[in-house]
Amino acid sequence: MQSKKSIFYSLSFCFLILAACSGPNKTSATLLIYGGPIYTVDSTQAMVEAVATHGDTILFAGSFAEAEKFKGAQTQLIDLAGKTMTPGLIEGHGHFMGLGYNELNLDLMNTTSYQEIVDAVAEEVKKAAPGEWITGRGWHQSKWDSMPVNTVNGFQTHYKLSEISPDNPVYLSHASGHAGFANAKAMEIAGLEILSKDGVDKFEVEGGEVIRDELGTPTGVFNELATTLITKHIPESTPEKNSKAFELAVAACHRNGITGFHDAGIGKETIALYDEMKTADKMGIRLYAMLTGWDKDLLKEWYEKGPRIDPDNLFTIRSVKLNCDGALGSRGAWLLEEYTDRPGHFGHETLPMEFVKETALNGLQNGFQVCSHAIGDRANREILDRYEAAFTELPELTTDHRFRIEHAQHLHPDDIPRFAALGVIPAMQAVHMSSDRSWAIDRLGEKRIVEGAYMWQALLKSGIPIVNGTDVPVEPLNPIASFYASVSRKTLKGTPEGGYEPEQKMTREQALRSYTLDAAYGAFEEDIKGSIRVGKLADFTIYNQDIMKVDENQLLDTEIAMTIFDGNVVYTNTDSN
Ligand SMILES: [Zn+2]
Repeated sequence: MQSKKSIFYSLSFCFLILAACSGPNKTSATLLIYGGPIYTVDSTQAMVEAVATHGDTILFAGSFAEAEKFKGAQTQLIDLAGKTMTPGLIEGHGHFMGLGYNELNLDLMNTTSYQEIVDAVAEEVKKAAPGEWITGRGWHQSKWDSMPVNTVNGFQTHYKLSEISPDNPVYLSHASGHAGFANAKAMEIAGLEILSKDGVDKFEVEGGEVIRDELGTPTGVFNELATTLITKHIPESTPEKNSKAFELAVAACHRNGITGFHDAGIGKETIALYDEMKTADKMGIRLYAMLTGWDKDLLKEWYEKGPRIDPDNLFTIRSVKLNCDGALGSRGAWLLEEYTDRPGHFGHETLPMEFVKETALNGLQNGFQVCSHAIGDRANREILDRYEAAFTELPELTTDHRFRIEHAQHLHPDDIPRFAALGVIPAMQAVHMSSDRSWAIDRLGEKRIVEGAYMWQALLKSGIPIVNGTDVPVEPLNPIASFYASVSRKTLKGTPEGGYEPEQKMTREQALRSYTLDAAYGAFEEDIKGSIRVGKLADFTIYNQDIMKVDENQLLDTEIAMTIFDGNVVYTNTDSN
């Protein structure tokens, strides 16, 4: 995976093409794949019978008879035996180390009551050393069967949790990643267990909220930037833990048929870790990283250096991530009109909007794409405004900017056509709709949901591609769930009949593109990945059934049968036959 190797492959590949065209003496393929439906996502031939690869590159895609001519003594034959193949799937917005740590952390994603969380933590307390932090993530009060008796602002209070873990600090991140829940010990360590006597309000945090009861005592729930009051006290991870998490994340990607990953916001340490992993030949995934906008020094450093487009196609940095508002669940999303279920509350921006424009200008001038997180219609509008202002100021640099808005969940109808008009790519995670739509209507009310939430088809029809994904670890990495959500607009339990706002469903072709070629486009990589075409990278995902044809109600039963990355089989599901 060194650059020498890829130069070798590109050179030898050119030679192969010449050899292939000029005589019968064709160089043999590394892999020859055939025997099932192969969807290419390539406009020149939608389906092929067979694919041949050489090294990390696609050598041939077309008829089986033609492909067979590339067969040599060393060629590995992969008979799909009726299974289906597509280009390798690209996770268009996730948090790679979050995924890795999730694999290490207490997973609360499937908990359905406060008591279940308490029980799960109690199990960890038994195993933990005295004073050791217990961390977990993935709880969501809207997924609970019933709410506990005592709630404040719609959230549980810490007492039950504190009771079972009096000596171990506990911090549990909300599934949205935008809130956290701490026990008394954690708050004590953070100096937050009691109100300050001198009348100074230490609970006021810009861009965040410490939820407190009627006496002013913190309840254990922290929103947005207030979470840092606790998280800054959690001990740093060790290098061993980091590499372990990294490797677990790579394995999780392979298990899920993911060969490319847009990592939405990384800092200096993570860049160093990835570099180290690449050098150690452990980069079993193509990472497209966004620099975290929280670190101004980091941005300055990279503006000076310029983007890094990896010649090995493994770890590219040419993007900046900004976090502009919160999430809908915790009512942090920034809205034009008040929340339907919390009058007078509009959510809030999490950074000054002028910084979006400043970053947009810097991005254009230094060759960086800008990707801004926006959930609420106000945040989306403000970002489009700032992007537009920057484009107007530097028109000569905007011909191929590919700026993005991450999530773009809730849009004012007037702003929908602006994405295509400005060339701003919405990176939307379809599975969020499945998880959130049933309660999102409480936050936004019917009119705003119908006219502006999860507007996939409206955006696609206006002429802008959508980058799909899961925002893992906010949602599980499973691309099948997001694919199903894209085409059905149902919850993962299959409700409601016909789907929510069915006119906004994607077709299966659109959904597959959003996970392949359009995701590649969102990273300037459509020339090297995202479709099965001669000369592109040999990344493929193989499924136990035909995701383009199987009945919608069977889609969720789809299993990843095999993952091929960089021309190598990196995962085989032994159960799937
Ligand atoms: Zn995210």
